[in-house]
Amino acid sequence: MGIVDEDVERVRQSTDFVAVASQFIQLKKVGARWTGLCPFHGEKTPSFSVNAEQGLFYCFGCQAKGDAITFVRDIEHLDFVGAVEYLAAKSGISLRYTERNQTESRKRKAQLTEALEAAVAWYHERLLTAADAGAARRYLRDRGFDSAEVRRYRLGWAPDEWDALARALKLPDKVLADSGLGFVNRRNRQQDFFRGRVLFPIFDPQGSPVSFGGRVLPGGEGPKYRNTAETRLYAKSKVLYGLNWSKDDAVRRDEVVICEGYTDVIGFASAGVQRAVATCGTALTEDHVRLLRRFAKRMVLAFDPDAAGQAAAERFYAWEDKYDVDVAVADLPPGQDPGDLARSNPERLAASIDKAVPFLGFRVQRVLGAAVLTSPEGRGRAAESALALIAEHPSELVRDQYLVEVADRCRVDADRLRQSLRRGGKRPRVEVASAVRPRAERDTPESEALKLAVLRPDETLPLLDDVLFVDEANLAAFRVLRGAGGDLHTAMAAADPVAAELLARIAVQDTAAEPADVRRLLLREKTLTALAEVQDEARHSLDGLAYAPLFGWLKLRLEALQADAPQPAAEGELLGWLVARAEGAP
Ligand code: ZN
Repeated sequence: MGIVDEDVERVRQSTDFVAVASQFIQLKKVGARWTGLCPFHGEKTPSFSVNAEQGLFYCFGCQAKGDAITFVRDIEHLDFVGAVEYLAAKSGISLRYTERNQTESRKRKAQLTEALEAAVAWYHERLLTAADAGAARRYLRDRGFDSAEVRRYRLGWAPDEWDALARALKLPDKVLADSGLGFVNRRNRQQDFFRGRVLFPIFDPQGSPVSFGGRVLPGGEGPKYRNTAETRLYAKSKVLYGLNWSKDDAVRRDEVVICEGYTDVIGFASAGVQRAVATCGTALTEDHVRLLRRFAKRMVLAFDPDAAGQAAAERFYAWEDKYDVDVAVADLPPGQDPGDLARSNPERLAASIDKAVPFLGFRVQRVLGAAVLTSPEGRGRAAESALALIAEHPSELVRDQYLVEVADRCRVDADRLRQSLRRGGKRPRVEVASAVRPRAERDTPESEALKLAVLRPDETLPLLDDVLFVDEANLAAFRVLRGAGGDLHTAMAAADPVAAELLARIAVQDTAAEPADVRRLLLREKTLTALAEVQDEARHSLDGLAYAPLFGWLKLRLEALQADAPQPAAEGELLGWLVARAEGAP
């Protein structure tokens, strides 16, 4: 594992889970517990629950569970060590490492990151100072980049040579190839991946480099943009350029701007919009949306979403529903990309975000804007086209609002349009795997007893016994908890997967019940079950009458248990009887 166990434990104990999680999600206190919208699956009603004292979370929607380390690991895409380091930094704890235990995979990943860091620095220095970078510097100047931007975004220049970087960094072949920086050619010599390109280093959300986007200079060879191939650090469909710089503003404003190009992100920032990210040569994917949802609810597209085609539009609606995001479209002048507009008219670029319109609104406006609304035929056609778009939206309420607007603009009766919308009936159904609703678990005396055993182990554990649990998972959970002397973390580590899952779920729940009452309820429940069994035995016995004294004895004690207060004598006797019966006594 790399970090001394003792230090991991120290981090765990000094971490305030609620404070850590609150940087990503809103938590609300409910009784002794906290709840909020789960960051790991799309949902509209909170099923993410936290036990603050124990530092544990559990999601009733997607069954995500764990402690602060797990939470940070999953939400920030870190590995275990990375998550511990993240939390240690927040608590001001310095960590001790065990080189011996450092896993191979972590070492290799660190090696790749180190190689990429070195490459970023080398390419950057090359752009700033090398004689052969004159054309690249001129190009950037002409595009309006000042030297502060060049430094901030650590832009670089890959010289027009076969192996300039490889010779400079002297990386092992495997590291060169695995980092995407180069490869070993057929003559068995190291060769650079990028050649004669201006480079935009791409960082992960924590600011470590993962890859590059390279732009050819005007008149140069090959495609305009070229990206590092996929590596273990870099998956195109999951990485967003600029997120490391934009995430803070995105969280503050609950809004993120999505662009298509590196220069768009930089342009937005120069125009005062510090929350833009760009896909790296791919369309927006579901992974991107899931990643961005952790930072913001509103997503403003700063590109033409219709250019991506019909399938893209349907995906946006599906994501709006599945991840509870609002997709809007920036009000950009037609044909202008944000990078260029940032230089020619930064105020207009910033305003394009303030004046962004919802996705459907954008599409309807586009149809109406292009239509001839001066003739009845033109208005009729426009209404039909707009209606076809409206029909795709999954929400009837939203559909109707746009329908009224279209009716108004095209001077058509709204009810007419409604009829037509219903008749059309071939609205493509957007298939959305709806989030599992948090199912309120049925509180049984057994589950109440477990909750109390977790919440108040010292009082509760001595009152309970194996025979009071019929449900296998409940019994297993109770046993490990008792075995661990009520220490939840130890119990969870020792439990089998089913019991561990149950304990994780129980850990974030609250109960107003009292241990003594729950014990009485359990005793009553189990005795009644046992009584029914004994009665059945009696019916099938040749000597049914012999059971009469036992029935009388049980009934007396059961009646005592009806009381509101503890009944030590009756309870002790019944428990003893249940235990003896479980052990096979007659
Ligand atoms: Zn969840």
